[in-house]
Amino acid sequence: MTKTRTYLDYNASAPLLAEARAAVVDALSAANPSSVHSEGRAARQIVDRARRSVAALVGGAAEHATFTSGATEAAATLLSPDWRMGRSALRFSKLYVCEADHACTLSGGRFAAADVEHFGVDEKGVADLAGLESLLSAHDREKGLPLVAVHAANNETGVVQPVADIAQVVKDAGGVLIVDAVQVAGRYSVDITDNCGDFLILSAHKIGGPKGVGAFVGRSDLMMPVPLIPGGGQEKGHRAGTENLSGIAGFGAAAEVAAEGIGAMGNVQALRDQAETALLAQFPGAIIHGKRTARLANTSLFTIPGLKAETALIAFDLAGIAVSSGSACSSGRVGPSHVLKAMGFEAEEGAVRLSIGAETTATDIGRFEAALADLAARRSGRPQAA
Ligand code: PLP
Repeated sequence: MTKTRTYLDYNASAPLLAEARAAVVDALSAANPSSVHSEGRAARQIVDRARRSVAALVGGAAEHATFTSGATEAAATLLSPDWRMGRSALRFSKLYVCEADHACTLSGGRFAAADVEHFGVDEKGVADLAGLESLLSAHDREKGLPLVAVHAANNETGVVQPVADIAQVVKDAGGVLIVDAVQVAGRYSVDITDNCGDFLILSAHKIGGPKGVGAFVGRSDLMMPVPLIPGGGQEKGHRAGTENLSGIAGFGAAAEVAAEGIGAMGNVQALRDQAETALLAQFPGAIIHGKRTARLANTSLFTIPGLKAETALIAFDLAGIAVSSGSACSSGRVGPSHVLKAMGFEAEEGAVRLSIGAETTATDIGRFEAALADLAARRSGRPQAA
């Protein structure tokens, strides 16, 4: 069968891996993992294996991983003023969150809006460490501890944040750091024991697993947030409700595949760079956001002056190519990007994001190049390629 579509939108959702699909299907008919009979114990083994694989992907211990319905629920659970340390209550009086974060942490979770403060990013998209330091030095510890949230890599620009430096600043201030590792886990080596945050947030569908399942992994479970979903004792009481067994199984399988290919981004980077070279050849005035700092090797967010992102998206889609306009998290909405705004870039054209993965081929990028050439020709009135 001829491939008719080219999918270049991995940061929105990576295609489901065959291994993950098989694990999902196998687990669909499993029993309730909380049941004590043999069938229940077999189901429990599926969850246990997935927990080990997901935790291992970020250097964590299985007993410190909690499954959720996705990264958004993990964020809503962790971003809480109310935590427990053993039997004692622990209070976080303020949340400090990066302005370029994904909406799941930017929304502030369970904190009242008045208790959320933001630290910015510079024009390259890198978190303002001095700004965070100054916010934390003004934090009133009498009222409670500071909680900080930041993304490890930006889903729109791909800009990678100095998480170890941020972790040090938060540690010095006696706070707790939540890192949204959704766009780095499975692509780069992440080790939670290596000063990269106290809790990491993960999502299955960004690494080739199914949608609607995620996790948070802690450095330990000494301090835990009051559950967002109380009820039965599942997930050691941290997230009630019968486990999404097939989703969790698929997540575990995807984590195992990802672990094998970790750090092997060479080909992905070469293809992304090829796409950017073609972009600049066709549109020399194009602006590639975040290009002047460390970026995910698979991501390119660009603005073509004078060409609305929405128009470009439609043109690419008609040419059989799926790209997006930055964040795709609010169903089909093409609006101004809060990430670009935080970087001080405001252009009414918006921006187009190409994001690729291990399955992307030179042929895919060739199709993108041809679509770019057609777009440029149409805009200049030149005849288009047949
Ligand atoms: N964090 C980042 C950086 C993301 O890119 C996304 C999804 O786009 C999320 C969080 C939300 O993940 P989920 O769909 O699992 O809730």
